[in-house]
Amino acid sequence: MAPRIAKVMVDLSLDRVFDYLIPEGLSGDIGPGSRVRVPFGRTSKNGYVVRVVSESDYPMSKLKEIGGLSSGKACVGPSLVELSEWMSEYYCCSREGAARALLPAPVRGGKIGKKKINLYYLGCAAEDAQDFIFEKGKRSKAKAAVLNVLLNRHGISKRDLLEMAGVGGSALAALVADGMVEKVESSEARDPFAGVVVLPTTPANPTDEQRLALDEVDRMLSSGGSPGTMLLHGVTGSGKTEVYLQAIAKVLDDGREAIALVPEISLTPQTTERFRARFGEKVSVLHSRLSDGERYDEWMRIHDGEVRIVVGARSALFAPFRNLGLIIVDEEHENSYKQEETPRYHARDVAVMRGKMENALVILGSATPSVESYYNALNGKYRLVELTKRVDDLVMPEMRVVDMRQEALETGGGKMFSRTLVDEMRSRLSRGEQSIIFLNRRGFASQLLCRKCGFVAECSNCSITYTYHKSRECVSCHLCGASKPAPRACPECGADDIRYGGLGTEKVELAVSKLFPHASVKRMDSDTMTRRHSHEEALNDFRSGRIDILVGTQMIAKGLHFPNVTLVGVVYADLGLHIPDFRSQERTFQLLTQVAGRAGRGDRPGVVVIQTYTPFNSAIKRAVDYDYAGFYEDEMEVRNVLAYPPVSRMIAVRFSGEDESAVLGFAETFTRGVGKVVPKSAEAVGPSPCPISRIKGKYRYVSIFRGTGMRELRAELRFAALKTRCPKGVSVHVDSDPVNLM
Ligand code: ADP
Ligand code: ZN
Repeated sequence: MAPRIAKVMVDLSLDRVFDYLIPEGLSGDIGPGSRVRVPFGRTSKNGYVVRVVSESDYPMSKLKEIGGLSSGKACVGPSLVELSEWMSEYYCCSREGAARALLPAPVRGGKIGKKKINLYYLGCAAEDAQDFIFEKGKRSKAKAAVLNVLLNRHGISKRDLLEMAGVGGSALAALVADGMVEKVESSEARDPFAGVVVLPTTPANPTDEQRLALDEVDRMLSSGGSPGTMLLHGVTGSGKTEVYLQAIAKVLDDGREAIALVPEISLTPQTTERFRARFGEKVSVLHSRLSDGERYDEWMRIHDGEVRIVVGARSALFAPFRNLGLIIVDEEHENSYKQEETPRYHARDVAVMRGKMENALVILGSATPSVESYYNALNGKYRLVELTKRVDDLVMPEMRVVDMRQEALETGGGKMFSRTLVDEMRSRLSRGEQSIIFLNRRGFASQLLCRKCGFVAECSNCSITYTYHKSRECVSCHLCGASKPAPRACPECGADDIRYGGLGTEKVELAVSKLFPHASVKRMDSDTMTRRHSHEEALNDFRSGRIDILVGTQMIAKGLHFPNVTLVGVVYADLGLHIPDFRSQERTFQLLTQVAGRAGRGDRPGVVVIQTYTPFNSAIKRAVDYDYAGFYEDEMEVRNVLAYPPVSRMIAVRFSGEDESAVLGFAETFTRGVGKVVPKSAEAVGPSPCPISRIKGKYRYVSIFRGTGMRELRAELRFAALKTRCPKGVSVHVDSDPVNLM
């Protein structure tokens, strides 16, 4: 019999596999994906089997034997191994890097840790923390540093917190004792998902459109071979989730398993309850607050077949099911499906690939599909199914556009709210109905400017302006989180003539409160939602009617379902349009459609007031007309002319470091180096400074490759990024299909 040799990837940052002999006694247990323990140098390491072969490039006598299985018999299965190999090639990262996405750290480490980790939150209001920093910060530097971090990060581990604050543990302990910081065991942080009594639901009788969608699901599932991908384009409230639930039931009946991905921001009790209510104990919810031990347990429950459905954000895609029948990607257009660290994968695209490899059906759902997915659907790569009506024929909210240029002419200008919006808010208050006022920028003012000398306050580490926060009387950088007391006078010329330019939610909240002093107004953005349960509390207050007007950022744009909300006001719809990113139109269209969907979800019709200075902009006009297809056509015209995705593929290579000339020099050499394999059907642009040219003291450059037929180029970029020695202090990474171009 030929010897059996396992190619094993060892848990080290090496882009290599090593050959080991499979001992006689284990031959039945070892296959691709098996977790094993192997001798490595003078120690032994965990790893997993990538392939089993019968020949090695090394002399047999030199090969060592696998020591044994680690983590019991845990195994990711051959198809997940294949998927990670594909990711490593496509996303130009090391095999080990790709495998990191596949196996959660506690499983990878092979230790069955039940240890709970503690997470830290502010225990007081943000204003109190800020007061402390200003009043006592000089004397208690360490405490101030801890509070400063917690103002920007909520629910952080002790290690990360102390590292970011650059202090030892005693300041933290003192703050916890004073109640200014709250320590929470991560299993408690799970609260919103556990212990909730969920009333079981039964499948609803499908509407005609839902019936057609489910028939298509049947057809695709029974097609033999790979069922392919469905794009379910359904307006908000059209019953997409009910289609998901009934599709899952079909797959379970067939003895197979299902994964449902939702964006992290939508991973709320409201969403997960709908799955639990239908399928009970068969559902596992994976979210980012699980402790290592809990994550390990859940992984094992899935691995051992105790769970048949996994609901979770991005990484739930890698649930180790062996007989997967269905993957759902809800809100498939969401950017949070893209991971912004190695491996920089897009969960939607990897879902399509996993579906193909395992013959599972993939359903991508959205009210505003990404241009990429709609393009694939029109080109026959995905099957397009549309739900055009709201369930129960609820009407879509009425959209009213206010041209703010005209408004300024008629009223003399300078007002934040148009007369229409003010009237509508007033009538909501008199009828006891609720309003949502939306602006996608937090803080009070986005610019602090000296009117005398023109000085603009900028972060000293990043190339962006400081945002002024009035409630905390400070300026802060929204990139690196640095903050300091707001200057009373100009730091440059000393003049007492500082202007606060640009709008933020804080200014909007203040204006609403001044306009309606008797109304109860609440602001919801990442500045006010610092405490552990503040998010749920605010939503409960809103639901129960204790809040009349909710002001907020995109935190309130998604997925919320409040029947008593009959007005949505968009203060400044143009905000996202002028960002230097080819997707800025698309994002504006999506965001406006999403916020508008918050109005009129009960029995009373809703009204949406959109304030804009560019009412004829395609993204705004098409959103107002509920015309997705029209928007898509407008957008494709631009993408065709400029050869942007989906017409082409894009790969960004980013370089960063503190020494600007070293970064630029390396970026030039690198880009020139791969230049010879750039095909005629593609082009290379750069290196040039990123739109945000400096973050946290590091200069950033980017080279963009765009075109078709880039297979060879991709391989070359991968090789160059992994094998080239960067100058000291300079780093490089490849970003395939980048989502964030800033
Ligand atoms: P979407 O996910 O497209 O926004 P949902 O699935 O949340 O839509 O459906 C909106 C509402 O309609 C939910 O309250 C849901 O329970 C209800 N619903 C969905 N399908 C049906 C149906 N066939 N019959 C009755 N109610 C339904
Ligand atoms: Zn900064």
